[in-house]
Amino acid sequence: MSRIAFKTPELIDHWHQLHPTLLDVVRWMASEVWEPIIRQPYMTITSAIRDDGIHAWGRAVDVSLRDSRNNSLLPLARRTRAAALINGVWRYGKVNPTTGNEYEVCYHHKVGDSEWHYHIQVRDETGRRDGWR
Ligand SMILES: [Zn+2]
Repeated sequence: MSRIAFKTPELIDHWHQLHPTLLDVVRWMASEVWEPIIRQPYMTITSAIRDDGIHAWGRAVDVSLRDSRNNSLLPLARRTRAAALINGVWRYGKVNPTTGNEYEVCYHHKVGDSEWHYHIQVRDETGRRDGWR
């Protein structure tokens, strides 16, 4: 189990306003995802509620993952593997009408000059693919 850190104190207040399924996913990530990929993960919530799309609704957080031993980012291949693991377990539950593809719970990306991060998003229909809650 890795700890969940918050980049700023305001994010702790945001945490209590987030969609309950989003809290489930992030807690699950802390306990299940990182351990096979990194021995001493350092997971930080870098952004939560902000005036930007799904973030405004308390249904998304941005998460950074570093190696606590040297505060470095993991190699891209391992970060990509973590994103695939998350999307393999969690289903967002909505199809993009334009592309016909399912939206994902986890997008591992870099937007503008932001750092690489995991954008984690949910909706009411989001759940585990195996139906377990
Ligand atoms: Zn985001």
